[in-house]
Amino acid sequence: MTLIPLMTARAGLCAVVLLGSASSALAQQCPGAAGFGKWLQSFKQQAVAQGISPRTVSVALDGVTYDPNTIAKDRAQGVFAQDFLTFSGRMVSNNRMQVGAALLKKYGSTFAKIEQQFGVPGPVLVAYWGLETDFGKVMGNMQSIRSLATLSYDCRRPAEFQAQLMDALRVIDRGDLSPAEMRGPAHGEVGQFQFQPSTYYNYAVDFDGDGRRDLVKSAPDSLASAANYIRSKGWQPGQPWLEEVIVPPNLPWEQADVTIQRPRLFWSRYGVTYRNGKPVPADNVPAALVLPMGRDGPAFLAYPNFINVYLDWNNSLVYSTTAGYYATRLAGAPPLKRGNPEPFTAAETKQLQQLLARQGFDVGKIDGVIGAGTREAIRSMQIKYGLPADSYPSHELLRQLQRGR
Ligand code: CA
Repeated sequence: MTLIPLMTARAGLCAVVLLGSASSALAQQCPGAAGFGKWLQSFKQQAVAQGISPRTVSVALDGVTYDPNTIAKDRAQGVFAQDFLTFSGRMVSNNRMQVGAALLKKYGSTFAKIEQQFGVPGPVLVAYWGLETDFGKVMGNMQSIRSLATLSYDCRRPAEFQAQLMDALRVIDRGDLSPAEMRGPAHGEVGQFQFQPSTYYNYAVDFDGDGRRDLVKSAPDSLASAANYIRSKGWQPGQPWLEEVIVPPNLPWEQADVTIQRPRLFWSRYGVTYRNGKPVPADNVPAALVLPMGRDGPAFLAYPNFINVYLDWNNSLVYSTTAGYYATRLAGAPPLKRGNPEPFTAAETKQLQQLLARQGFDVGKIDGVIGAGTREAIRSMQIKYGLPADSYPSHELLRQLQRGR
């Protein structure tokens, strides 16, 4: 499913991390527009050989040209990173709360039917709907077929995009959308939940009963398709995804990471409570403790629904925690406690990543984005230095690393 590093599944318009991942050396070896026409002819033959009707192939691909703009966006080196409080503050706005609540009401009977059939509650769907496309209002405006054809011909990841293009043709061939209706951002994502064409082909459902799976114009089709996709990733009906908690001043902080699941009784023994002071149940339900801004910021218990489904939708912890938190708010939870986390800029994070890389850790790209590799490296060095090992950067850690011990 992964087309874009650090973003999986549908790769939203408003994802936290926008990365162009081709090295410039590789980009220089890529063919320009010159051979595109010839390549397109042979792809058309392949599509017909794979059972797509000649008419669909012709309607979708005749006259399609190489799009330098798609390539420029694909190669863009810009990285845009925001911490959880900044990003969630911006994305879970009062306006999005109001519009989300109104839509939950407007489509109440649709959500009831969807939950009955797929087990996924309305707030989870509405939160993604808002984050991905502002509830279907901002879906991107590039011609998806042209983008996909360009990336299929391009040298960077042709096999992946050729598979996506073929599935886009299948979506057209079965009458879900016309080529002209397929518009989106630069990597061919389509519709109100920004599905990649293969996701569309495999998971879209016709929920309004008009015989077409229309994820561009039909809200019921879009919502049910998102639910169908989420269920396929192992969503457990009736189970929580994220719950805000209060953590005591002393915890084995190195246990607080989305990759470490413990029975709730483990957290209960350490005095983790809900917002209202009620202790977390001392049972065996597995949960990870997620501290998106470190131990002085907000705290959440993350359940298998979060770990298996949210992080599959988008493996950015900042994006997924925001989506999960927004869903809890729509389901009635109060605004989170911001706490008092130490401010740490993206530039400082880059500096920290450089120092960690020098220590031999694989932190991925030095990009100021705190991914899984950086978190793990931070935790290791915090443990080494005897600092609270909450996997979150601090100036104290930066100082110690600069001293180079
Ligand atoms: Ca329909």
